[in-house]
This record gives sequence, structure tokens and C-alpha cells, in this order.
Amino acid sequence: MEIIETPRNTRLTPATDEQLAYLRQDKWAKYTPPSPTALEVAGKKMLFREGLTFTPFANAVACNAHCRFCSEELQRKHDHELTAERLITDYDVYFAGLERALLAIKGLRIGLSLSGLEATAEPVWLLRLLDLLARLEPCLQFDEKVLYTNGSGLVKHSTLVPALQKANFDRIELSRCHYDQATNQNIMYFNRNEPVWQNEQYEQLVRSLHGTLFVKNSCILTQKGIQTIEDVENYVEWAGSLGVQEVVLRELSRLDDTYLPNKTAQWVAQNRVPIEPLLYEIAPTRSAVRKNWTYLYSTLGYYYYNEHYAYRDQTEVILETSSYPALMRANESGIIQKMVFHSNGNLCGDWNPNANIIGHFF
Ligand code: SF4
Repeated sequence: MEIIETPRNTRLTPATDEQLAYLRQDKWAKYTPPSPTALEVAGKKMLFREGLTFTPFANAVACNAHCRFCSEELQRKHDHELTAERLITDYDVYFAGLERALLAIKGLRIGLSLSGLEATAEPVWLLRLLDLLARLEPCLQFDEKVLYTNGSGLVKHSTLVPALQKANFDRIELSRCHYDQATNQNIMYFNRNEPVWQNEQYEQLVRSLHGTLFVKNSCILTQKGIQTIEDVENYVEWAGSLGVQEVVLRELSRLDDTYLPNKTAQWVAQNRVPIEPLLYEIAPTRSAVRKNWTYLYSTLGYYYYNEHYAYRDQTEVILETSSYPALMRANESGIIQKMVFHSNGNLCGDWNPNANIIGHFF
């Protein structure tokens, strides 16, 4: 089996049916992380996973969608506050703290992963963030920049796309749960004053981005939306017709009993579509792959497993499965796996603003 270590994961290309079957067993559990990097931050010597990402948690305003599966609404039993609830109020304090946090981790090779709530919903915050990153760029080592977005602000605020292009974003991951706008709305629940909920606006946006920003379409598999192989093929055909070259289909994370059974956790449990049946329909084995599909390779990360395919030799399709418990186990290893800068001034190795604190920067 060909094995290539990339900055963020391991890429494996099995040559036989047995090798693919072996990879599909245990999945992320087979990942061997590279040696961590040591750095002193805020007076403490810490270990960081190679290739980790930094997220300035985007919660300047509440999200303008209400996805039924939104991970920001999941609550672990020992957490007292949901990450998303404390919005950024004082931009001067926030950006001064963020600058100190970024300078404190100077020297680490990191990826920028812009997510949290909806970063494009508040253009003043996003443009100021991009200005700060541009100013600090000579000191920082971002080897990749990705924006995760529902596209809403890109439709409404004409300044954002040129600013993201100028900031050299490698790609935007655009979420859409279905090709039918009513079905999509039944899952994502955009505020009705957000034009992007309509396909006409969304499709126009996607077409307009080509040549400016690379678009990867992200679709969460749900029983209310995309769940069968026919649904998947229709979705990929639709994305392809808009010029999208890469589509990722994600399984809702496997939760365990460390999460409170709130409305979101219950919805996730009831509507989760497991990825295995789809994988076995597309490629029951390495040598027997469904018509129009070509198996390319698999990737293993510290809490996820992906299979990459080419569909009709035109669109790369990635099927992804991940595990929150595996993510939390990695977080407990003493090695920082992921950095999140929160609106309370804490830089954390966790999505919880009070857990795994690396330093406080307000
Ligand atoms: S767009 Fe993202 S942040 Fe907003 S509700 Fe959906 S999943 Fe949550």
C-alpha cells in the first residue's frame, strides 16, 4: 500500500481488496501522529501536533442559519456554557488579544481554519480580521487558509470575495445540505431575509466564485436530505453543473454519552446517516467500484477517515466519517491538537472556551 504523510494527515492508496477492507476497519484508530513540536507559550512549555490549525472562533454575531445538527448547539455534560453564546462585543479588545495570541505562537507552522459561527455574517469583523492577518503575515506561517461558510454574507456583501481573494485563501468550503432549496431549508433553516436560502442566489454565487476562490462543496448526510447513493449522485451532478470540482459528504459525528441529550443531540441521533452503506455501494471492494466512480485514495487523520473518488472523471468526491470521542481522546493526550481563539480572550486547545487553555490574551 502506498503511504504518503501530508502536513495534516496520512494518505493511503491500497492496492488490493484486503488492504482497503483493512483500512475500513477501525479507521482513524490506525492513524499514527508525527512527533509533536515543542514551544513555550505564555510562560508554559507545550507540545503541538504537527500541522495543527488555528481558528479565530467566528462569533461576532449570531449565525443567520439554524442547522438542525449545528455542532455549536451540542453541549458536553461538564460544560457550563455553549461556545457560541458569548458574542464578540468590543472589537478593539478582541483584535488586540487576537494579535497577542498569534504572536505568542509565532514559529509554529499552522493552517488557518476560519469557522465557528458564520464568519461572513458580520463583514466589519471579517474585514478587520483579514487586515490583521495581512499585517502579521510576515511573522506567521500559515501553510493553508480555509473559510467554512454557508455563503450568506458572500451574497450580500460585495467587499468580501475580493478581500478573501487578496488574503490568498486556498479554498472556501461552502455548506449546502441538498440541491432542492425547500429540502435544504428544512435542514439549514436560513433566516428568511438571507437571499442565499434560494437556489437562484446560491447557484449564482457559486458560478461567480470560479477563478476567484476555489469552492469545495460540503454536504452533511441526513435522513431529511442526502442519504442514498442516488441522492449522492444527484447532488454531485448538481454541484458539477455549477462548476464545482470538489464535494465532501460528511457523516454526522458519532456522539457518545458525554453529550447532554439536548434537542440538537437528539436530532443528530435520529437523522444520522451512517457512511458505511454508501462506501460499500460505491466500492464493495477495491476492485469492484460502481459505474462512473473511480477510487483514488483514503486519508486518515487523528479523528477522521476519508475515501476520495473521482465521479465521471470530473468531480472529486470525498466521503468523510469522524468521531467526537476520538477527538476528545486526542485532546486528553497532553498534545495540543487544534487551537481556537475564543471571544473571552482564551486561546484553547478545545472548542470549549474554558477547556485546555493555552493562554489568556485580554
Ligand atoms: S451555518 Fe454553521 S454555524 Fe450556522 S447553524 Fe449551520 S452549522 Fe451552525
